[in-house]
Amino acid sequence: MPTWVLHTEFKFDAAHFIDGYDGKCGRMHGHTYKVHIKAKSHKLNPSKYLKTPDMVCDFKELKWAASDSKKGGLDHSVLNEEIPVATTAERIAEYIHKETKNRIPADIDLHVTVWETETSWVEYTDQDV
Ligand SMILES: [Zn+2]
Repeated sequence: MPTWVLHTEFKFDAAHFIDGYDGKCGRMHGHTYKVHIKAKSHKLNPSKYLKTPDMVCDFKELKWAASDSKKGGLDHSVLNEEIPVATTAERIAEYIHKETKNRIPADIDLHVTVWETETSWVEYTDQDV
């Protein structure tokens, strides 16, 4: 079966604290988060910017979180004010996955990887890996 796999990466800067954490991560601090999104599809779709079905989805839609938090993204935000769950890397990845799914056509498998530091990252998908 034909298969396309899109990959994109971006970074955003944000402050956060982990509510209830017994240690320094419980205090406000910042990270430059790196995000990798993999989008797999067996068919091509039109997008908001291209009427013909020639894309898995628009890269712009995958990168929404990189934009300014005043314009709907997560850059230069306090994550605790943007995300309705704990701001662990695990929950941030799940949140970006859910919000990205809402912006792209159905039937695209998404894998979201979030690096909180250069040496610590988490991968999230909504199905068995
Ligand atoms: Zn942190």
